[in-house]
Amino acid sequence: MQIIGSVNCEFVVRNGRTSLERGKSIYLHSCPSIVSLIQAQTMMDLTAKIQKLKKEKKAIILAHNYQRAEIQDIADYIGDSIELSRKAMTEKDAEIIVFCAVDFMAESAAILNPSKKVLLPTLGARCPMAQMLTTDEIRRQKALHPKAPVVLYVNTLAQSKAECDVCCTSANAVEVINSLDAKTVLFGPDRNLAEYVAEKTGKTIIPLPEWGFCPTHLLFQPEDVTVLKQDHPNAVVMVHPECSGEMRKVADFIGSTSKMCRYAKDSEAKEFIVGTEEGILHRLRKENPDKKFFTAYEGAVCPNMKLTTMDRLYASLKEEKHLVKVPENVAVKARAALERMFQVN
Ligand code: SF4
Repeated sequence: MQIIGSVNCEFVVRNGRTSLERGKSIYLHSCPSIVSLIQAQTMMDLTAKIQKLKKEKKAIILAHNYQRAEIQDIADYIGDSIELSRKAMTEKDAEIIVFCAVDFMAESAAILNPSKKVLLPTLGARCPMAQMLTTDEIRRQKALHPKAPVVLYVNTLAQSKAECDVCCTSANAVEVINSLDAKTVLFGPDRNLAEYVAEKTGKTIIPLPEWGFCPTHLLFQPEDVTVLKQDHPNAVVMVHPECSGEMRKVADFIGSTSKMCRYAKDSEAKEFIVGTEEGILHRLRKENPDKKFFTAYEGAVCPNMKLTTMDRLYASLKEEKHLVKVPENVAVKARAALERMFQVN
């Protein structure tokens, strides 16, 4: 056994279980069980520190369904983009909103509730899909299709939202498009979601850009579902509309993460194959302990969502970094597009 460091605590065996106690110095060995005990202790320390700071600073923690399990566990509220945006918009008591997600979601919170301090624990937590749509591309397409309204998925940066007529999420995209008195709609940035809403609404949907995609959801392949189905023939297949058309074809249910949670709860089925980012499995398993959930592809991890860790969350709350600010001229227009979306629901 190799000594890899020391720590100010001691091991205690009570009722046959080993645990760590603080206050005594011991050597830390490279034994996996010892390392995992140390990690558990560190996590407990961080949890206690975050809870304390949260009270002192009147903060709330919002976490997206794709966040790490420990971030979901410490959050006051977990949800998808529309649920979190609504929560951020209506939050009255808290002075600080710590938004554990990616850039565009924290921006939406800052736009919808400008009187609060909105913090994004990790500056680099950017959604690549949101970066795919530029304001130049929106203006170019608007000039080509002057009569078509522009509907943008909330997975866009604030300056893009400021250029659109109304926003939508994957949970309400079909309802938003149906609410418009137009047969042709400009829609971005996810091409798969654009195709899905075209199928559901029968309208002509022009994707902008032509090729926008989520790198995580593109990883799902129907062949993986076929293999999983051999072991779990009765499993219900739930797929996010950001997945490819081929994946949608093998799905029993297509919907946003919030819709998947409701569907799984209400369903009689006992097994589910899930075609969206793996973070949702933690919530699904917690809410449905009697049911089994399998990811449709083990590698479907959004690295941007996973950048938020407990120590980054703690540092963010402690130092009140990184404050999300949207220039007022952009925020006014983006807020109008987001509020129009809420009027549809
Ligand atoms: S899962 Fe896809 S759409 Fe969501 S934040 Fe990650 S890259 Fe962006």
